[in-house]
Amino acid sequence: MDSSREFSDLSMSRTECPKCGAIWINGEHRWSGTGVKGNELDLAGLVCNRLGDSQCVNPSKGTNGGDTWERRLNDLDTFAKKYGEGESQWWNKE
Ligand SMILES: [Zn+2]
Repeated sequence: MDSSREFSDLSMSRTECPKCGAIWINGEHRWSGTGVKGNELDLAGLVCNRLGDSQCVNPSKGTNGGDTWERRLNDLDTFAKKYGEGESQWWNKE
């Protein structure tokens, strides 16, 4: 029995991006604060590609293809166009 090895299997590695505060637990990205499993590519598009610099530890930093604010705004825009000019105004029911 090699107990030191068993111990190391249980240990967790935790890396925090000094720039955007995102954390990686055992190499898996989690959103800071919530601890919810995140998507490195989305994180890159939303945060790291804008704010990140050489300090940023996101392995997907500089990669396009994830979620971006532009895309989110476009989605909202499309959503508003699709539903906002209709006559039903389902969101505006009293
Ligand atoms: Zn970062």
